[in-house]
Amino acid sequence: MNSIKIMLEEKKMPTHWYNLAADLPNPPQPPLGPDGNPVSPQMLAKIFPMNLIEQEMSRERWIKIPDEIRDILYRWRPTPLRRAVYLERYLKTPARIYYKDESVSPAGSHKPNTAVAQAWYNKQFGIKKLSTETGAGQWGSALAFACTLLGLECKVFMVRISFDQKPFRKMMMKAWGADCIASPSLQTNAGREILKKDPDTPGSLGIAISEAVEQAVSDPSGKTRYALGSVLNHVMLHQTIIGLEAKEQLKTAGEKKIDVVIGCAGGGSNFAGISFPFVCDKIHGEKIRIYPVEPTACPTLTRGPFVYDYGDVARMTPLLAMYSLGHNFIPPAIHAGGLRYHGIAPLVSQATVEGLLEPKAYDQVKCYEAALLWAKTEGLIVAPETSHAVACAIEEAIKAREEGKERTILFCLSGHGLMDLAGYDKYMNGELKEACLSEDLLQKAVSVFQSHPQPKICRTGKW
Ligand SMILES: *Cc1c(COP(=O)(O)O)cnc(C)c1O
Repeated sequence: MNSIKIMLEEKKMPTHWYNLAADLPNPPQPPLGPDGNPVSPQMLAKIFPMNLIEQEMSRERWIKIPDEIRDILYRWRPTPLRRAVYLERYLKTPARIYYKDESVSPAGSHKPNTAVAQAWYNKQFGIKKLSTETGAGQWGSALAFACTLLGLECKVFMVRISFDQKPFRKMMMKAWGADCIASPSLQTNAGREILKKDPDTPGSLGIAISEAVEQAVSDPSGKTRYALGSVLNHVMLHQTIIGLEAKEQLKTAGEKKIDVVIGCAGGGSNFAGISFPFVCDKIHGEKIRIYPVEPTACPTLTRGPFVYDYGDVARMTPLLAMYSLGHNFIPPAIHAGGLRYHGIAPLVSQATVEGLLEPKAYDQVKCYEAALLWAKTEGLIVAPETSHAVACAIEEAIKAREEGKERTILFCLSGHGLMDLAGYDKYMNGELKEACLSEDLLQKAVSVFQSHPQPKICRTGKW
């Protein structure tokens, strides 16, 4: 029998992160400042420490993982690669479905991979406190965990709707010593402005980012920086440890060829983590289909334009070249809170422009259905975000059965859903509605781009 759990020895954990910017035929276009010119490292220095800014701009293919970071990651890494044989049997599919289980980290998702790295680089740079935003609470809890290990203070602005729906993540943050408040809050100018206009707003990641950035740049001691859990190049970089480990493990499992790679996509980091090492193979000639999967309620890659847009509502961040639904966009309050961000990583965006990726969008009802099938066959109750990747893997496995083809499918199980059972409850009670974004709302959201500079569409046309 083939192995179901494919482990990797600690001493085989990757020593370097992989930087896709080194291999993309056209690297992502630079972030722009308010004057329309590329931002200089100096302009970002109040927001991020210089060592991470250097990583953000790097074109080096391999970047060494400092030993001290590896030492922290050993708590849960390498993570297991598992084969979903119980689901395969249920589906009677000839496909082999593998998943990288990132739910085993202390915070329950892939996010500590970058949280630990970011906290470490900030500490190296002499920073004492990190501020951040969180949607479903996954990122806030990951950063709280990392900060407590490294002795940094941590302040988290949590999107109001999740703050109310998901009290347990707040408690996790508190247990790890962080200060977590609902966003919009009365503690920042950005928050006060929004509450004046709309006191009942559910909040959004864009608003919470504005608040967290404002906290960092307005600290008179200069010892606070901001940390972002997704979207930026250095975050994608830190997450590539997922795909690099998976590659080794697939070799151990005797797989020579991977046909399909899948990740759910909010800001793009777990997707980038699992897929970028395979995107590299695709650039160099391998035939692999690579699917980022998003919700139909927030269809950034499948229906949004490729534009220069801000990362946040108050336009405190530089303009990033990315697919976006507009920095003002507040998506429907679906349960996959981590997939409600208006934009997506510039590296994922450029790989999409290039034709290397084939984005898909699924409705939350279909995703919960897939998640329950997963729970009843494989066992784990996955995060609502992760259910989008599960739904795609199931669809691919069924397609393989219908076509009578063997196929190797890999996806990232980005996190467990044990803190997110309220969404499952609603689905099981039949209270959950389909939440496809209407064309009207989409057009309204993207009208903000008329005044923005336009990125060039750089595509070699090879894929
Ligand atoms: C945050 C989160 C996501 C979405 O963020 P990405 O940056 O797109 O990975 C997906 N799954 C889980 C479990 C998360 O916590």
